[in-house]
This record gives sequence, C-alpha cells and structure tokens, in this order.
Amino acid sequence: MTLIQKSSNIYFDHNSTTPLNQEVWAPLFNLVDQPMNPSAVHDHGRISKSVIENAREHILDALHADKNDYQVVFTSCATEANNLALKGLDGYRVFTTSIEHPSVFNVVGEGIIPVKDSGVIDLDALEQLCKSLNGGKFLASVMAVNNETGVIQPITEAAEIVHKYGGLIHSDAVQAFGKIHFEISNLDMVTISSHKIGGPFGAAALVARKSLPLNPLLEGGGQENRLRSGTHNSFSIYAFGLAANIAIKNIENFASQTQRLREYIESELLKIAPDAIIYGKNANRIPNTTSITMPNVPNETQIIHFDLHGFSVSAGSACSSNRLALPRVQMSMGYPEKVARTSIRISLGISNTMEQAKKFVDCWRKLYETVNNKKKVA
Ligand code: PLP
Repeated sequence: MTLIQKSSNIYFDHNSTTPLNQEVWAPLFNLVDQPMNPSAVHDHGRISKSVIENAREHILDALHADKNDYQVVFTSCATEANNLALKGLDGYRVFTTSIEHPSVFNVVGEGIIPVKDSGVIDLDALEQLCKSLNGGKFLASVMAVNNETGVIQPITEAAEIVHKYGGLIHSDAVQAFGKIHFEISNLDMVTISSHKIGGPFGAAALVARKSLPLNPLLEGGGQENRLRSGTHNSFSIYAFGLAANIAIKNIENFASQTQRLREYIESELLKIAPDAIIYGKNANRIPNTTSITMPNVPNETQIIHFDLHGFSVSAGSACSSNRLALPRVQMSMGYPEKVARTSIRISLGISNTMEQAKKFVDCWRKLYETVNNKKKVA
C-alpha cells in the first residue's frame, strides 16, 4: 500500500482545520477496531452509547450549559448544525449578519445586520430590526467570532436585545469554542465543531434549548432525540468530546502562545508596509488570527507565493469556479473590493514557533518589495 506523502509546509491555517491533537490519538486508536453503533442493544452497543454520552457531558460542561435546559445534537459538521438551527423552526422569520460563514449566510440568503468598520456587529441596527418585526416570531443568527478577522462579537448583548423583543438567538460559535472562554449563557442555540479544536472531522454539534420545537433535517432511525437520524460517527464524537475537554483546559496557553506570534507578525509587517490594513485591529479578537492586506498585491498572488515558499495560509473562501469569492467580510467593514482583494488570513496554532513567524515575515517582505519596487520603477 502506498502511503500519501505529508506536506512539509508551515501550517498557518488553523481556522480552516487543525491537526488532530496528539492527546486524543491514544484513546481514539484504542477504540477504532471496535464496531461502535450506540443504537445496538448488546455489549458493543452499550459501550458505544456510553462513549457518546461521555462526549455529550464534555460538551455541556465545556459550554457551562445546564443539562436540564439544553440538549446536544451531534451532527456531521458545523454546516449541518447551522442548517438545523436555521431551518428547524417552523414559522420563524430568520435573519443574520453580513459577516457570517456561508453555512449561515447562504442559508438565510442575506445578512441584514451590518458591522461597523471595526468588524463588530452594529447592536443599534440589530435593535431597530427586532423592533420593526412588531412581536412576530423571529430567529437571529449572530456568530460569536468571525472566522476571517477573528473579531469577537458582543453575543451576550445581542441575545439580550433579541430576547427583549421576544425573539430567539442562534450563534455559530465554531471559531470561539476552545479558543476563548465561551459559555452558552443566554443563547438559545449554539453551533460548535470538532476539527477546529484538535478533534477529527465528522463531528460537530448544535446545542439547543430543550424547549425549542426543532424539526429534523433528516428522517430515519430517530437518533439524537429524533433530531439527527443516521448511525452515529462514534469515533469522531468520542474524540470531539476529548478534544473539547483538552482545548478548554488549554485556553490560557493557546492565548499566550499564539498571541505572542501574532503580535510579532503584525508589528513586523506594519514596519515593512505601514499602510497595510489589519482588519479589526482595535477590536477584541481571538488571539491566533490576523487578516491583513499586502498593499498592491492580489491575494491570489500572495497565496501562490507563500505556498511555493512553504507556507499554508488562506485568502478567504474559494467560490465554485475555484476563483476566490468576493471578500464579503472585509467589504462589509467598509473597505473597497480592490483593497479587500489584497487580504490574506493567517491563523496560528499552538505548535507554531517564533522561528516560523520570522521566516514568514521575511517571505512576506520579499514579495511586497518585489511588487512595490517594480511599481515605483514603472
Ligand atoms: N462556521 C464557521 C465560523 C466556520 O469557520 C466554519 C468553517 O470554516 C463553519 C461554520 C463550517 O464548518 P464545516 O465546513 O466544518 O461544516
């Protein structure tokens, strides 16, 4: 059997996905040869069920969610959990913000809650909108942290406003959970994901108030309290619970490790190009993320340059034609498309080092100077 060769690139794209946490490997590999269907009524099934229930407890604990009020619905990915939250309630008007991940934005169809140029949602606009609905049933979906800029949203305040007008609030907390202290607090539904926090692919969750009249997206065997039919992905769910537990314990460490490198990278890049824009620089941000422009250099050129020089970074989502999609998040913060198209996202992980950060700064400088010096000559 031929083994797939691993990439030797330095990985600066942790908001996209993370490597599997090594502390999860041993307990996971201990189980992978087991037939693990928790719906089966025999010893294998009982063990599998206990594994799933153990993960459920970890998730509820990590979110400080009261088990009497909230239930965990395990799904295959955060996209599915977001779809369940947004499509699962009959008769509700659903609206969202201009900076959501496509798994929310494209489901709702538009983002009518604007953000300020800081990248923080406009709470006054949210309040006006809630007021204008005149007491009708509504659901607002407001992300906890933006995946591109890392800007932390005032989600507790947003929930207070929504509740004041009788609405419900869902939050896509995929980029908050496990990276900063994040509790379910006064939210009605929350989406979280395994592969963003050192867990494997194939597991995510919608954590929702038990009192909500949610309808499933899929009909079938009625797993997950009838809200998510289909045989459980027991391995991934198990490892998701472990990864959540580890990530929560490591939050301070994650913050100090990644913030130090981010501060270094940002300050060095600004020394090279003082007119570079760091989106949301003055807002509260998660510690590992920076979205930054390289003046006059399209992000596609940057991504190819960095890849060729051994760095995996991201430039926003690709659209179906494989070209980069419109930089909606940066544009909704008020930046023109031409500027927004020179932005890349660097998202760090706990294993990144200062040496890697220094190499990256050098690599960034080379491209910036090549393009901008040529411009001066021309
Ligand atoms: N929500 C946010 C904020 C994300 O960053 C992502 C993935 O990048 C998702 C949802 C969707 O996650 P998945 O593609 O694993 O379903």
